[in-house]
Amino acid sequence: NERAIGAIRLEENAAVIKLLLRDFEESASDWLWETNAELELLPVSLRLAQVARRPVESFSGVFPAALLGETMESARPGSALERLHRAIAERSPFRDVVIPVLVAGEERFWSLTGKPILDKHGRFAGYHGVGSDITGQRRQQEQIAFLARHDSLTRLANRVLFSETLHQACDDCEATGIALLCLDLDNFKTVNDTLGHATGDAVLVAVAERIRGCVREFDLAARLGGDEFAVIIVTEEIDEALQVAKRIIERIARPFHFDGQLVQIGVSAGVTMAPGDGNTPAILLKNADLALYRAKTDGRGVARLYDPEMDERVQGRRILQAALRRAVAAGEFVLHYQPVIDLTTGLISGAEALIRWQHPERGLLPPGEFIAIAEETGLIVEIGEWVLREACAAAAAWPVPVSIAVNLSPLQLREPQLVATVLEVLQSTGLDPARLELEIVESVMLDHTEQTEEALWSLHEGGVRIALDDFGTGYSSLSYLRRFPFDKVKIDRSFIRDLGYEKDDSSIILAIIGLAERMNMVVTAEGVENNEQAALLISYGCGQAQGFLFHRPLPADVFVQVLSRPGPHSLPAQGTSAAAE
Ligand code: C2E
Ligand code: CA
Ligand code: CA
Repeated sequence: NERAIGAIRLEENAAVIKLLLRDFEESASDWLWETNAELELLPVSLRLAQVARRPVESFSGVFPAALLGETMESARPGSALERLHRAIAERSPFRDVVIPVLVAGEERFWSLTGKPILDKHGRFAGYHGVGSDITGQRRQQEQIAFLARHDSLTRLANRVLFSETLHQACDDCEATGIALLCLDLDNFKTVNDTLGHATGDAVLVAVAERIRGCVREFDLAARLGGDEFAVIIVTEEIDEALQVAKRIIERIARPFHFDGQLVQIGVSAGVTMAPGDGNTPAILLKNADLALYRAKTDGRGVARLYDPEMDERVQGRRILQAALRRAVAAGEFVLHYQPVIDLTTGLISGAEALIRWQHPERGLLPPGEFIAIAEETGLIVEIGEWVLREACAAAAAWPVPVSIAVNLSPLQLREPQLVATVLEVLQSTGLDPARLELEIVESVMLDHTEQTEEALWSLHEGGVRIALDDFGTGYSSLSYLRRFPFDKVKIDRSFIRDLGYEKDDSSIILAIIGLAERMNMVVTAEGVENNEQAALLISYGCGQAQGFLFHRPLPADVFVQVLSRPGPHSLPAQGTSAAAE
């Protein structure tokens, strides 16, 4: 008989029970209870009355109601109370059933264990059991559970809770749509590095607080690690999701104050919708990530919505990446040379080497299609070395010893080997170092390290000339010109394009030319396409120009022919316009 197995034999165990009773009565919150065959509660101990905060007399009536007093939950299906009732109805034992009860107006948790008692005829004689108040334990468990699922610094949900919630939300997303926002702070590393980790932590806490303030209680804000956050918003409306993202961006952009210090930080957001864009956590996270990446490349501090076309772009890039690796090995690159014209003499003063990729299927690709990927993958270092060697070797064989300009990627400047490589190439090709000009962009100066500065100085001392390329784009600070003795500044073609239309561009060009003169730098105007631009540049006293007006970038052999041709280019006279040509 099943029931008999769990039952306590009354006579045999009376002594043991007495012992246990003493034990329990002495421990803080455990107590024993007993009923008769009619389930009426027998007089309870003082201990229980204390724990329950009600008089001993109030414990009269039928078990379990008489014992529990006011409970916090009804005996609805699946509840602990219902399980208890069922066990009692069957007169079967029960173990560690946790019931939320109300003690003096406060919610507490009681755990009950009970066994049926059988008399000597094997008939049910009542229940005998133990109860304990496990509220403290429960709270501790809750605390532990909370900590396991929340970020200890910001108290936002952590990866564990985020991922649970996202899985759940995906399972339900056909019924209830959601939006997933992935957020990444802009320039957080700089804050951390310059103001210290304590301030960095304070920023994260404050940022979390602002994010929390932008979402509703049934949405979930999480910190996924570092300066990455995510929000799950219950909504089917794209506009609403974007609005939340914008609100977060706008709030976080407001300055923070820490110990009298003003800290400003931005955040970028990627947004994706479920089920519209996908219905699994993996897909949604990938989508939001792609959108976030786009937000970052679109200038940060903005929100971008996922678009399937983003996948295609990534796919396309991946294919290109693999092809680029093969191209390096297969030697599919060629150099074209664009002549640089001396505006005082009309003679070719040099050429800029510009790379092209002879793609087996897609034909001749311009650098805009692959340099960025070569930089991302680090292949630019290898490609850059090839360009340098090829250009120097070609220039060494030119009929006229004009200069050769080679573009250097910022990544190449971070290579410790760079100076050694350049010197070795000059040596092995026999090119006069004074004929080599290395073009670097402003961003090199922006996040320069001691090492890049040292490299520039070593090259300078080796007799190689250094030019600042694309001047005027990006950060365009004249202070770079003071930090390093550049031999040349190349004014970006965006300034040349509007020459004659935009007054401001003229004054910027004049300022650069004036400064360059004082600092002994040559100025080259890029992208000169018509006579009017050339005439204006000549009138401003600009030294050199490069552009389609004179020559497009030319294949190596064509450039040598052009260079061999005697005589200067005819330059427009000052003040003439393109129409008057
Ligand atoms: P960049 O250094 O500013 O090179 C000048 C670009 O302007 C070239 O484009 C050239 O074809 C174009 N250009 C010249 N004159 C005109 C003009 O009158 N009008 C217009 N609209 N454009 C003109 P390209 O060859 O497509 O090169 C683009 C960029 O790719 C270069 O800009 C440079 O940043 C990069 N690049 C090219 N070759 C190399 C290389 O060997 N290594 C590295 N790291 N970057 C390279
Ligand atoms: Ca250049
Ligand atoms: Ca340029």
